[in-house]
Amino acid sequence: MNKKRSLTGDRPTGKLHIGHYFGSLQNRVKMQEDENLERFVMIADVQALTDNFNEPQKVRNNVYEVLKDYLAVGIDPNKTTIFLQSMIPEIAELTVFYSNLVTIARLQRNPTVKTEIAQKKELFGESVTYGFLGYPISQAADITAFGGELIPVGEDQEPVIEQCREIVRKFNSIYGDVLKEPEAVFSKEKRIKGLDGNDKMGKSLGNAIYLSDTDEEITKKVMGALTDPGRIKKDDPGNPNICMVAYYHNLFSKGEVKEICEECKAGKRGCVACKKQLIENIIKELNPIREKRKYYEERPEELKRILMEGTKKAQAEARKTMEKVKKAMKLDY
Ligand code: SF4
Repeated sequence: MNKKRSLTGDRPTGKLHIGHYFGSLQNRVKMQEDENLERFVMIADVQALTDNFNEPQKVRNNVYEVLKDYLAVGIDPNKTTIFLQSMIPEIAELTVFYSNLVTIARLQRNPTVKTEIAQKKELFGESVTYGFLGYPISQAADITAFGGELIPVGEDQEPVIEQCREIVRKFNSIYGDVLKEPEAVFSKEKRIKGLDGNDKMGKSLGNAIYLSDTDEEITKKVMGALTDPGRIKKDDPGNPNICMVAYYHNLFSKGEVKEICEECKAGKRGCVACKKQLIENIIKELNPIREKRKYYEERPEELKRILMEGTKKAQAEARKTMEKVKKAMKLDY
């Protein structure tokens, strides 16, 4: 039976946080049990440069940070091919070929691109770069280079997958049936809010717990988390529905949540004690991850070997695709 291929990845612009952990990372570890699936995970450094072109060192530094996070949570290089985007020139080549098949107006209408351009006003001002506007084309190249059929994404990314399908259809209608149309697989996990209640989590917002955070960093962040603002004294009845500590207990304190909420509502629980309990549970959950991360931190050669072996394997697949693409486009000199 032919295995289906999946492609996922992250842009190496920072270490990964618990939003990634409860979303894409746990999902990728789970996917490793599916024997009918061949998995590729890309560290998308070229894509990271589309809006970090002025910070190449930041992108470079984070390639190995992201790799350490992957290995620490249990992405197994024997079951999942982990590779570096910039070392696969076939992806860049496909991007050039596909750019003839998409109009500028279509890219400008893409809802995901529109939203992201609006969010990056500070970087781009009124005039967005060609590279950023065209990133869905490079994503189509990422996906099709490996014959990706199942693409796990958040619902906000569906327009980018649709754009890829359009490129595939157009390519196949002009040059012959070479490329496979991908299918978006939506994660059931919802996006995790930051400790301040913000829908987005990130370094600049200071509201994220990273997989590599120390006990002290976790303690400081949780101690500053948003609680029910109406609660002044310990015996005031609280509302866990508007408290980020309760929200995080739901993630890290599974068997204890009912009791926590009842005590909060009855005014029988202090917020400081409640936060301390959460800190303990977060540290308990992250400890094995941090230990594994430390193991790899002390073995940079092993990290490099894993990344280079995965990249070599991925490139062999991209080359096969490129051969077919060039033949179909009469470029097989
Ligand atoms: Fe939040 Fe806990 Fe305080 Fe209730 S007791 S408001 S759940 S921190």
